[in-house]
Amino acid sequence: MPKKFYITTPIYYTNNPPHVGSAYTTIAVDVLARYYRQKGKKVFFLTGTDEHGEKNAQAAKKANKSPQEFVDEIAKSFKETWRALDISNDDFIRTTEPRHIKGAQKFLSALKKSGKIYQGKYEGLYCIGCEKFITKKELADGKCPDHQKAPKKVSETNYFFKLSDFLDRVKKLISHDKIKIEPLERKNEVLALLKQGLEDFSISRQKVKWGIPLPFDKKQISYVWVEALVNYITAIGYGSNQKKFNQLWPADLHLIGKDILKFHALYWPALLLAVGLKPPRKIFVHGFLTADGQKMSKTLGNVIDPIYLADKYGVDALRYFLLREIPFGQDGDFSIKRLEERYNADLANGLGNLVSRVLTLSEKAGNFPVIASERKRAKQSRRKNELIKGVKSTQKKYKKALEKIKFHEALEVIWRLISACDEFIEKNKPWTLISEQRTANSEQKLKEILLSLLLSLKEIAVLLRPFMPATSEKILSQIKLNKKTEVLFPRL
Ligand SMILES: [Zn+2]
Repeated sequence: MPKKFYITTPIYYTNNPPHVGSAYTTIAVDVLARYYRQKGKKVFFLTGTDEHGEKNAQAAKKANKSPQEFVDEIAKSFKETWRALDISNDDFIRTTEPRHIKGAQKFLSALKKSGKIYQGKYEGLYCIGCEKFITKKELADGKCPDHQKAPKKVSETNYFFKLSDFLDRVKKLISHDKIKIEPLERKNEVLALLKQGLEDFSISRQKVKWGIPLPFDKKQISYVWVEALVNYITAIGYGSNQKKFNQLWPADLHLIGKDILKFHALYWPALLLAVGLKPPRKIFVHGFLTADGQKMSKTLGNVIDPIYLADKYGVDALRYFLLREIPFGQDGDFSIKRLEERYNADLANGLGNLVSRVLTLSEKAGNFPVIASERKRAKQSRRKNELIKGVKSTQKKYKKALEKIKFHEALEVIWRLISACDEFIEKNKPWTLISEQRTANSEQKLKEILLSLLLSLKEIAVLLRPFMPATSEKILSQIKLNKKTEVLFPRL
């Protein structure tokens, strides 16, 4: 039985259409999903949309639409965008779907039954942009630093979750990497938060209308964050398909942005423990993208549409750029200038040039068929041929980088092999063998050179497949290598 690998993006708020930031996260998860599928794992890749809450209701009002109408449209644009960006998700969960509502209510009932829910009065400040309570300490000039808006004063009776009862257990799980949080600085950040201590949090709202009613008190609506987190289990059958749920849970990887770390690393595991479910195995946290050095925001007008970029530069170029330019996990800057530079240097001149060079050489040499004896010879030359030796070490380094979720390193490794191919061509000058009167000896040498290049090119295409699926397919179809040669390089 292949091992399952359940991987998720966060579900995205439907108050705005997808932008390059959500594309960044989704492309990253897609690359991992494709990589593990290629490795033979039974991958389940989930993404979706977070459609309830005041923020979405307000956006709908502004657009003169009913909340449902509004979120239907935005959810559609997310789906279309992911299709356009070649995202291979296995499911797309919308939090307004019946399967989610049913599962969320089951979860809330279980939470109530656990005895860890109590009624209390809440008074405090609330930022609608963040959909969370905010302390005075967190404000800058009286405003939420992320949204540049003053928070609302809220005073109401609602239900609270006894977070404090679970913090010791969560702390232990995180310290022992039972819930692995990466990169390390994020794990330390979470442990520091635990040291400071955290207050119980409310799981319901009284005055909000657009959401899921608590099954045990219909006057109250589930706090949108609690309901949103639960998507990771409702999508795989919690409350609707127990068998599927048992097969897939716990999640092997939640990939998230750093702004939602506390919810995923502390609240979510605590909520799961309260109802007797396992916490996720791993949470990987990536940084923020800025645009030309500035925070991307609608108000600043520098939000970048990923569809526009994909149309202009190509889907694969966008996928490549986002994961090559910025070390994954750190903050990074998105700039069109850099995208164009990388496009020209790495894709057109690097990869594109190598492919056309090798294909032209092979064509000039007469597109020789690869037969069993050549396969044997190539196998022997693997020991002496530097280029072929390099392929093996490339595979190893690539695998290591991807398993640590270091996309930029995996791509760097591929591009080193591309350079090695160029150097190999320069050193062996195969064109001199093509033009001269061919002897049996020079013919054999030419074949060996070209075969080494074609095999390396094939390997480059295979390694690129998770990142640039269409480009990879195109290269593979152009090489037309004899099937038998493939056994030389077993799949990773
Ligand atoms: Zn805010």
